[in-house]
Amino acid sequence: MSDTILLIEDNEQNRYLATFLLEQRGYRVTAASDGRSGLELAPVLQPTIILLDIQLTTMDGYEVARTLRRRASTATTPIVAVTSYAMVGDRERCLEAGCNGYIEKPVDPVTFVDQIEAFHPRLADTQAGS
Ligand code: MN
Repeated sequence: MSDTILLIEDNEQNRYLATFLLEQRGYRVTAASDGRSGLELAPVLQPTIILLDIQLTTMDGYEVARTLRRRASTATTPIVAVTSYAMVGDRERCLEAGCNGYIEKPVDPVTFVDQIEAFHPRLADTQAGS
């Protein structure tokens, strides 16, 4: 069974690209287009990893990350922020909110999946063995 990735991203083109790149590598991707629906999906999906845009509607990614961390079901699920915020301090803000790491937009299609797998080595192992 392939790993499920929850992608919380409000931009349709970014959702399309990330989903395409991940599915190409054998992952199952479920996307949410805003913070609130991402929070609703997370306990249902129990994803292996969560990719989180920071600039989102209904609530921002920091609030989404903090909420995921407060819940027992996603307290330890790896969360990787994927964001175009490139100002000094944003990385720290992501980590403070509970994210495990941070990938800057625009994503590099060649290295995107490898970057994500680096935050959860089991992902790469599982795919290699399937
Ligand atoms: Mn966004």
